[in-house]
Amino acid sequence: MYSFYPPKVVFPFQGTPYNRISPCALPSKVSYSSIQNPFYPLDYMKSVPASSQAPFPFQIQPKEEATRGSWTPFPWVEKYAYAFAGPYNKAEVALTFDDGPDLLYTPQVLDKLKKHGVKATFFLLGENAERYPEVVKRIVNEGHIVGNHTYNHPNLVKISDEQYHEQILKTEKILQNLTGYSPKFIRPPYGIIKENQVKWASEQNFMIIQWSVDTLDWKGLSAQVITNTVLGNTFPGSILLQHAAPGGKLQGSVDALDKFIPDLISQGARFVTLPKMFNTSKQRK
Ligand SMILES: [Zn+2]
Repeated sequence: MYSFYPPKVVFPFQGTPYNRISPCALPSKVSYSSIQNPFYPLDYMKSVPASSQAPFPFQIQPKEEATRGSWTPFPWVEKYAYAFAGPYNKAEVALTFDDGPDLLYTPQVLDKLKKHGVKATFFLLGENAERYPEVVKRIVNEGHIVGNHTYNHPNLVKISDEQYHEQILKTEKILQNLTGYSPKFIRPPYGIIKENQVKWASEQNFMIIQWSVDTLDWKGLSAQVITNTVLGNTFPGSILLQHAAPGGKLQGSVDALDKFIPDLISQGARFVTLPKMFNTSKQRK
């Protein structure tokens, strides 16, 4: 029987001294981009305070890195309006910015997007939209899309259904007043949500969007590190996660836009908003 993988793989980097390999056989520099499982970035749980981590069955059991799986049940993406990425057969990539608006980073992000002629989606917190209404209006006036990121960023599995509905609907009202529409797209804080909450959102004509490329920009990473993460992990259909939050350490994230946007465009990527990527309306009603 034909064996697709030969029993012994000859791998030039193991056991063969480099000086015996023809210089033509190897690229001059061997490097590996930091590939991460987009459905469960390796540092994901470190970003969630232990006190707000979800109870079983949502608690992620510690496993070897290599055996970690997706933290969301796969059938959800077929039952509900729920997605981590867009179509793989379109050259589209979506930029998303969470936790804003703010007065420092959001305006800089908007300047960069304008400079590169790119539209994005901003998942705003109700409390920040209340604080900085002019920035929300600028986001909309410049052709970007606004999504709902709850009122004050709770871990949704720790609150009651009533509190969850209030978080979403109160924020919707604030955003409706500022933008003129009720945003269709929701992103749950920390990406954590329960099935009945996804179900309710679907029934209410919302769409829940997670992400497939986590820049980990909130760690205060440099523009170069963020650029490497983006360029090493972005594929057709990718949804990138960045932040534009008050009090964050996000200058690297802002500056990275000047590096990776032109690079991806030169590779043929088109930056689109989430309604465009999913061929749907920006508003739920
Ligand atoms: Zn957030």
